[in-house]
Amino acid sequence: MLTRVLKYLEEDHVCPHCKQELTLCNAPPVHVGDGLGWGSEYLFICLNNECSLFANGWKYIEDQYGHVGSYRYMEIPGSKETYNMMVAGRDAFTGSIVDIEELKKQNKRYQEEKKAEAKLPACLENNDLEPVLFLLLDEAANIDVRKKAAGMLISLNDLECIEPLRSHSFRDTSLEQEVNMAISAILTKHYMKECPFCAELIKARAKVCKHCSKDLD
Ligand SMILES: [Zn+2]
Ligand SMILES: [Zn+2]
Repeated sequence: MLTRVLKYLEEDHVCPHCKQELTLCNAPPVHVGDGLGWGSEYLFICLNNECSLFANGWKYIEDQYGHVGSYRYMEIPGSKETYNMMVAGRDAFTGSIVDIEELKKQNKRYQEEKKAEAKLPACLENNDLEPVLFLLLDEAANIDVRKKAAGMLISLNDLECIEPLRSHSFRDTSLEQEVNMAISAILTKHYMKECPFCAELIKARAKVCKHCSKDLD
């Protein structure tokens, strides 16, 4: 879906009334019973207040319908459909302009998630902790994929995973539990434990922490 929106941005949409470039906006929610859906989550709209359609629309609507309003020119992305849409004021749609930089950022994150997901099946064979950590630390990544990644922690048996995972705050408590259990298992396999005072990794048998010198009894 994200890639589709970014594709829309490559389309050329110019207002025939004022020759200005149209702005990509989120489509307004369709009123129940209206029967008219835009058929698109996004619309290209002329938001130019000097646009002749918009500037002359006020008088036209006043004369025709006796109420306050005007028209904005609009095109449906990925199609040839165009509309003159009635608006009640200047600010209609200015709050629903699509944040393109944000979209690009989201898309970049999504591509990285997909890359990490693709590396997941081979990561045990390659002893590759990186995609597993990437997915576990990415709160926006697909939860099922993240759970799959969590399931690989014990087999990877890499102490390097502990610090980043302990420092991360998980929104999903069941994923967090799974990660904590995996960390305990990895520590046991290495005959290690975490110092309850300084959180450094120490021998399971230690009675005094070699890092903070606290008594562990
Ligand atoms: Zn225009
Ligand atoms: Zn300590």
